[in-house]
Amino acid sequence: MSLTGAYDPANIFAKILRGEIPAAKVWEDENILAFMDVFPQSEGHVLVIHKTSTARNLLEISPEHLAQLTAAVQRTARAVRKALSPEGFSVMQFNGEAGGQTVFHLHFHVIPRWSDRALKGHGHAPMADAETLKALAARIAAALD
Ligand code: 5GP
Repeated sequence: MSLTGAYDPANIFAKILRGEIPAAKVWEDENILAFMDVFPQSEGHVLVIHKTSTARNLLEISPEHLAQLTAAVQRTARAVRKALSPEGFSVMQFNGEAGGQTVFHLHFHVIPRWSDRALKGHGHAPMADAETLKALAARIAAALD
């Protein structure tokens, strides 16, 4: 998938938004959904997406929707920090297949980091157990401001 083309409503995040496949949700409002990455690169890896924007990448989103999304990334990162006490965190965002993107509904990764834990590879991490993700999502949700 290059940077050009049309939004595919059959992408996995669109299916999560429509409730067609399950996700461990951290929080949502009318614009935003934050949920656990099912192949987490570290414990507490959260994905943040816009609900109504059909931007596939950073180039396509409107400034208004991007402002909502980045505010949501910050809110999520603050809760991750409070809940899991990482030593740091990485915010990642990939654009186009050549840019490392695998799901073509714009999203930001919030990935907690600890200096003594290696980050698992993007797209190479093992699938996490659903109950574990649900418990992490609940801990992060409880720390939301
Ligand atoms: P990208 O590679 O596009 O930046 O990130 C897509 C992310 O979606 C990856 O980190 C991948 O682990 C995650 N992912 C892929 N399929 C699913 C899924 O079915 N559910 C959830 N929660 N995450 C997924």
